[in-house]
Amino acid sequence: MNDLGLYIHVPFCKHACPYCDFYKVELRAIPAATRLAFIDVVQQEFLLHVTANPGLVERRLESIYFGGGTPSTLKPEQVGDFVTFLKSSFAGAPTAEVTLEANPENLTPARCAKWRRAGINRLSIGVQTFADRHLERLERLHRVDVIGEAVANARAAGFDNLSLDLMFALPDQTMEEWRESLRRAVELQPDHLSFYGLTYHEHTPFFDDLQNGALHELDEDLQAEMYLAGCEYLRAQGFEHYEISNFAKPGKRSHHNQRYWSRGDVLGLGPGAHSNLGAQRWSVPEELESWQEAVGENMLLKAGEEPLTRQQQDGERLFTALRRVEGISRTESKRLHEAAMAWYQANADDVAGYALVDGDAFRLTEIGWLVSDAIIRDVMKLLRRK
Ligand code: SF4
Repeated sequence: MNDLGLYIHVPFCKHACPYCDFYKVELRAIPAATRLAFIDVVQQEFLLHVTANPGLVERRLESIYFGGGTPSTLKPEQVGDFVTFLKSSFAGAPTAEVTLEANPENLTPARCAKWRRAGINRLSIGVQTFADRHLERLERLHRVDVIGEAVANARAAGFDNLSLDLMFALPDQTMEEWRESLRRAVELQPDHLSFYGLTYHEHTPFFDDLQNGALHELDEDLQAEMYLAGCEYLRAQGFEHYEISNFAKPGKRSHHNQRYWSRGDVLGLGPGAHSNLGAQRWSVPEELESWQEAVGENMLLKAGEEPLTRQQQDGERLFTALRRVEGISRTESKRLHEAAMAWYQANADDVAGYALVDGDAFRLTEIGWLVSDAIIRDVMKLLRRK
């Protein structure tokens, strides 16, 4: 029986950052009781899934991931009871990786100790940048001076698996600032690092500012240089670059990330969560109140549940495989591997350095990852012609 991962989307944030397109609600906009009831509703939603599909709990639970939103705004005691309940519900789960996304300002010594007691064994900390001027522009609630304290508090509480999230390509960010962020992040000795270029998503204040000229996107070449400089620096510091945006010390890859990018089974709970079980995909609609009401009436809300076409499955499979350092192997999919190889051979003169053949796998290099969307589109065109 396949292992399973659980993803819990916690949509609460103290303040909505102007660049963020994740589903979230500001805490001041909802009654405190809604936040306090959240974990109970998630537990009820989980039980409804188990009633509909009892085989779920026969699986080994490999990972639990509290993402958001800002899961560190929850009460650790409630989360702890839920984690204990989940572990006792599954046939095998004692060693599950249990990650909590946390903002630095929430990681006081007392809260870190509580999170550790709650069964969280991995923290993913939203650091974003080591320049106060950018933290202010991003409207983050922490400043640089609390980042080191947050990491020290987590270590003192016994966390031996810490990940830091960084952002690059911020409005008028310089290469020096980016290098300084990387250097200071590494100085804190995290076990795992992720970095993402700022994206101007539609329906966000940053997107509007881009449209009206109040903000300017960083030059594309500089963005690419920043990405490659980050890759080179982290590799030199002993991190393995195992996925486009993720780097890990040996043995510290994120189980949740790996499951996600290898299209492993994940059951998503909470409004805005996505599920992937075998050939089934769905998401929970992004609406806190209707989600609560539906679960209260023993109903599971699912959106986009229609089965994927073969073409969609191919696209998804290529998209996820080519983000990973393992790429797409012949053993994994002869058809996709052949299409990728055909693309590679047809464009050999132009794509040297962007992709390579590694044993029985075809994979992209770091430069290739910069243009992975275009490469995947080309390979998909070849597949459609077959
Ligand atoms: S704290 Fe995170 S999830 Fe919340 S608005 Fe900011 S970026 Fe989005």
